[in-house]
Amino acid sequence: MILLRKAEDLQNWLEVKRKKGLKVGFVPTMGALHNGHISLLLASKANNNVTVSSIFVNPTQFNNAADFDNYPITIESDIQVLEKVECEALFLPSVAEIYPNGYSSSEKYDLGNLETILEGKYRPGHYQGVCKVVQMLLEIVMPDNLYLGQKDFQQCMVINKLIDQINLSHKIKVNICPTLRENDGLAMSSRNMRLNNLERSLAASIYQTLLFLKKNKENKNPIELKKMALATLIEKGFIPDYVEIADELSLAPVTEWNSKQKTIALVAASINEIRLIDNLRLD
Ligand code: AMP
Repeated sequence: MILLRKAEDLQNWLEVKRKKGLKVGFVPTMGALHNGHISLLLASKANNNVTVSSIFVNPTQFNNAADFDNYPITIESDIQVLEKVECEALFLPSVAEIYPNGYSSSEKYDLGNLETILEGKYRPGHYQGVCKVVQMLLEIVMPDNLYLGQKDFQQCMVINKLIDQINLSHKIKVNICPTLRENDGLAMSSRNMRLNNLERSLAASIYQTLLFLKKNKENKNPIELKKMALATLIEKGFIPDYVEIADELSLAPVTEWNSKQKTIALVAASINEIRLIDNLRLD
């Protein structure tokens, strides 16, 4: 695997591959790689000639300074993981490489209600930061295929919207991969590394709550179900930001079941300041 820190070097390297007609898959990450990331890399490896991964803990998408400061960084073992899956290139830029003119930018992406609901509501500015870095990375890599995880369902919607807005949808295909889970159902996440044993055992309740919502869909209305799910999470010691049952296409809250509508349950909850998110399609 080749490790490149400069955008220009990566572009030059990719140029040679493209001239040979090779297809490029891209897996952007913030590092602290786990099997969820690996599943995206393997999906890319299976469908492209060249897989590029990036590791960049993007400061502009953290709305909480402590979350940024505590974000796990495990570059050495990440490189080993990437070598093992035979990823062809790792882009490991510095903050200055991505933001040569500093963070502040007047550019604002129009994300509609995605910016005011769920993650957008509880993490103000987060998706603007995500769009900023993803636009930069896409313009540098210009992949044929981009790989994202369903674990960050709303983020997938945001990035689809971004790609449309920056007129790259004819060029880049977005591939959304299923959420990989631990044996007890906890969605794999870099933030899980921060959980102590007790927190780790409680964290599986988030998935249990999602399963509860799915299982009881026929028995209770969505509002009642959400209330019960919130109460369970609070009882377990979580501080939930939201438990939502939403339309899968718009993420608008669902208040009554409608057999024609596809729905998804989404949860964000913190345990001792460690914020975890997960979702599950209900249909
Ligand atoms: P992150 O490093 O957390 O920014 O994630 C990088 C990519 O991996 C994003 O597209 C995530 O949605 C995806 N991802 C994170 N966790 C998982 C998981 N448990 N299963 C599948 N994909 C994941």
